[in-house]
Amino acid sequence: MSEFLRAEHLTFVYPDENNGIPAVSDVNLTIQKGEYVAILGHNGSGKSTLAKLFNLILLPTGGSITVDGIRFFQEDDADDAELEEKVYSVRRRVGMVFQNPDNQLVASIVEEDVAFGPENLGLPSNAIRERVDWALDAVDMRGYARRTPYSLSGGQKQRVAIAGVLAMKPACIIFDESTAMLDPRGRREVLSVMESLNREGITVLHITHYMEEAARANRIIVMNDGRMLIDGPPREVFARVDELKEIGLEVPQATELLFRLRAAGFDLPLGVTDPHEAAELIAALYREVCHE
Ligand code: ADP
Ligand code: MG
Repeated sequence: MSEFLRAEHLTFVYPDENNGIPAVSDVNLTIQKGEYVAILGHNGSGKSTLAKLFNLILLPTGGSITVDGIRFFQEDDADDAELEEKVYSVRRRVGMVFQNPDNQLVASIVEEDVAFGPENLGLPSNAIRERVDWALDAVDMRGYARRTPYSLSGGQKQRVAIAGVLAMKPACIIFDESTAMLDPRGRREVLSVMESLNREGITVLHITHYMEEAARANRIIVMNDGRMLIDGPPREVFARVDELKEIGLEVPQATELLFRLRAAGFDLPLGVTDPHEAAELIAALYREVCHE
């Protein structure tokens, strides 16, 4: 694996807001190409601001961010044209999918919507066609190419929005609560697309407040008051139940159940997130207790 993103003392203060309190404060992390990272944290903990720094919608007010070898820091003495060029090339590498699919769709026909990005890149029309077909295939929406987005379900709309981002051929996609407005079926559809894109090698960063969704990632970052509080694999992160509760976060239901049984004196591990694994552990415990 090779490094894709590096934040060093990354800090951001919104101008004239919050009495100068940083929305993101002294974040240090690296993300390798092809990782699947979930970002957790209560409202206002800095997740969206961090995402916007990662794709240079916002420029750091302190520290630095390096994306695919391109470094940005506050004292950057690059002239405006140079900076704009750098920002533009990062935005092509890091796509963003937001919460509300309706705000992301611009055209009245699905395929035109997906073509919007590649058209802006000035690609020839056959290359645009190829990208649109490829992107719609990747989210399993090719059959809807000529439909109007208004006739689609929330999950389908979100998949079209993802296709629009994919058509830019990004190395990384950040999903900022992209499942939050969807029904359970739409959420499953979008999660499955996320996972298949990650299997194809795309780096996936998923901001979510659903613990079960976060548990599907390879790594979880927990934000609190603009700082990165915890960074580790789901099993390690969810083993820290008390700490998570202290900052107002839940844990997956399976984790919570084992946590309570453990508190009641049963010998069970912390950090298990998979319901089937939890059920196995409880069944084994049951056999043990009944044999006594
Ligand atoms: P999250 O995505 O975790 O809910 P945000 O990154 O949106 O957190 O917000 C972090 C902090 O920055 C909060 O205190 C929020 O009020 C503040 N903030 C977010 N967006 C803006 C903005 N556009 N202008 C000023 N302050 C903002
Ligand atoms: Mg947010």
